[in-house]
This record gives sequence, C-alpha cells and structure tokens, in this order.
Amino acid sequence: MSKVTFENGGAFIRDTRSEVEVYLAGRGTRARGAVQLYAKAPVALGLTAGPWAVLVFVHPGIAGGLLSLLALAVGVTLIGFCIQHDANHGAYFRSRRWNHVLGWSADALLGFSSYAWRVKHNVAHHTYTNIDGLDADFSQTPFMRFAPAQPVRPWYRYQHLYIWPLYLLMGLRWQTVGDIAAFARGRIGESALRVPRGWNLAGVVGGKALFVLWALAIPALVYPWWVVLAGYAGFSMITSLVMATTFQLAHCVEEASSASPEDLRREAPEWAVHEVETTVDFCPRNPVLTWMLGGLNFQIEHHLFPRVPHTHYPRIAEIVRRNCERHGVRYTSQPSLRAALRSHVVHLRTMGRLGLPVEIEMG
Ligand SMILES: [Zn+2]
Repeated sequence: MSKVTFENGGAFIRDTRSEVEVYLAGRGTRARGAVQLYAKAPVALGLTAGPWAVLVFVHPGIAGGLLSLLALAVGVTLIGFCIQHDANHGAYFRSRRWNHVLGWSADALLGFSSYAWRVKHNVAHHTYTNIDGLDADFSQTPFMRFAPAQPVRPWYRYQHLYIWPLYLLMGLRWQTVGDIAAFARGRIGESALRVPRGWNLAGVVGGKALFVLWALAIPALVYPWWVVLAGYAGFSMITSLVMATTFQLAHCVEEASSASPEDLRREAPEWAVHEVETTVDFCPRNPVLTWMLGGLNFQIEHHLFPRVPHTHYPRIAEIVRRNCERHGVRYTSQPSLRAALRSHVVHLRTMGRLGLPVEIEMG
C-alpha cells in the first residue's frame, strides 16, 4: 500500500502556531500551566491509593466497598486523562525519559502498555485521524462501522445500542490480550509496532505484573476470588466506558469528517485542517469537566498541539477558533455533553443503516 501523505504547512497552521507561541511565551504562562497540571497528580494518585487501601485493609462492607470501588475507578480514570496521556505525548516534562517513566503509570495502574499506546495513539490515531484502516481507533470492523468508506453489515443497524457493552469491555481487552495480539501482529493500523526489547520489555512485563499484583493478587489474599473478579470487572468496565466515550465524542460524531486512504492519495489535504475537521470539542465552558477530562473536551487543540500541556487548551482554543474563521476551516464545539452524546448516537445509527437494502433498513 502506498503511503498516505499530508501537506504539512499551510497558512492556517502557520498563523495559529505563531499566535500560540506568543501566548506560551507570555510571562509566567508556562509555569502557570505546569503548576495546574502537576496539582492534579496528587488528587489522581490519592483517589487511587486511598480507596484501594480502604478496600484491602479496612473491609468496608458492601455499600462502603462499592463506593470505594467507584472512587478507585475515578482515580484511575483521572490518571488516564490527566497524567499518562500528557506524559506519553511528551507534554508532562521536558525530558523524554521522564515522560516515558511517568507514562508507565498506564502500564502499572491502567493495565495497558504505554509502549504500544504510543504507537496506537500518538502515531496511528494522531497522524491519521479518522482515516479508515490507518487510525486503529476508527476501524472496528466487524463490530462497528464509523464511516461510509467502511463495509456494510446488517448487524450494524443495531450498533448504536450494542456499542455501549463493547465500550465496557474495551479495557478488559487491552488489559488482557490486546497488547500481546498487537505485538504478535507487529503493527497497529498500518503503523509498525516493534516487539519491545531492553527497558521497553521490562516496562511491559513489569507493568503487567504490578497491575495484576494490586488489582487481583493482593485483594485475593483478603477476599474470596469471585469477589475480587467481580470487583476488578466492575472497576475495569467503568474506566473503560468513560475513556472510550470521551475519545469517541471527539471523533465519532456527525460533525467530524472522515476519509479513506484513496481519498487522501487523490488529493493530499493540509494535515492541520484535516485534524480540525475530523475532531470536535465539547463543553468548552464547563471547568469541572475540562479539569477531569484532562482537556480531552478540547481535542481539536490537543490534536494540533499534543506536546503542549492540556491545561493550556482553553486559552489556545480561542486562538484556534479565531484562525479557523479567518481561514475558512470548519470548527465544531458542542455546547453540552448531551448534544455531544446525541450526535454520537445519531452518527452510529446513520452509519449502521447507510447502504443497507431498503427492506432491512426499514425493518
Ligand atoms: Zn492524544
């Protein structure tokens, strides 16, 4: 398959980038963003370690146990959104090595390999956003259909219903066989994934071992095995549902465009314009949600500036929006979570039915 290429420059990104650089060079701007970023870490880590310690050492009973499990899921989700995501993009520290060390929180606490994530997310998803076959997040054949370029199957007309249980199970898949299957295939989408060696291998194996230790082995010393398994499944499903839905609301909605590799070979678009038009922001005026989602409700800004800490995205959004207007680039920001969720469901329903024979579509 010949490579898909983009036009890297263009007036839109040139103007946007220079304005963002002026903003970041402002007195105290970078330091303020870093303080806001680092302040989240003790909250996320405390909400993970605290409830876990209560579950293992205090045995709080059924109601207290469920509450602790929920708090643990919130803590780990915060680590996913506010620590590992920035670190694995190289946005947390200046040093690449320290970013990788902190990015390893994904291995140890979320249970998936940060080494594989950097290829799956940083390369396949961030470079080839919403391109069928190249963005692994976007190609889920034969379970789901997100774009007209993907094949039609009769069961997809129910996908807006059955997708939710699948979102619950995605975390379990990556914590168990997902990483290993990707290493065996040697690629994610069309992006090469080398078998890890040296420190990377130690990180993958050590991370899985630590995850199994705290999530299963230590709890099994104090609870019956079926309680441990049920607790692990519940925790994994909650974090998975929240993370999958958050990412999908940015790309798998009516307002986000998509492309096939053939479309891009015919005409190479400007990469920055492609990123803006395949991505959607939501709830830009909700500071609580913005704080909790690690700026992932500002995914347009994240896709244009993935190595800038997410605490800057609300301010960068003003610059991006202004430049989109100036250069005629379509910029979408959903005002509410309800509107974003609705658009996701409507898009799934439309894609599930598009191209079906009329008698099945109407049935
Ligand atoms: Zn990202």
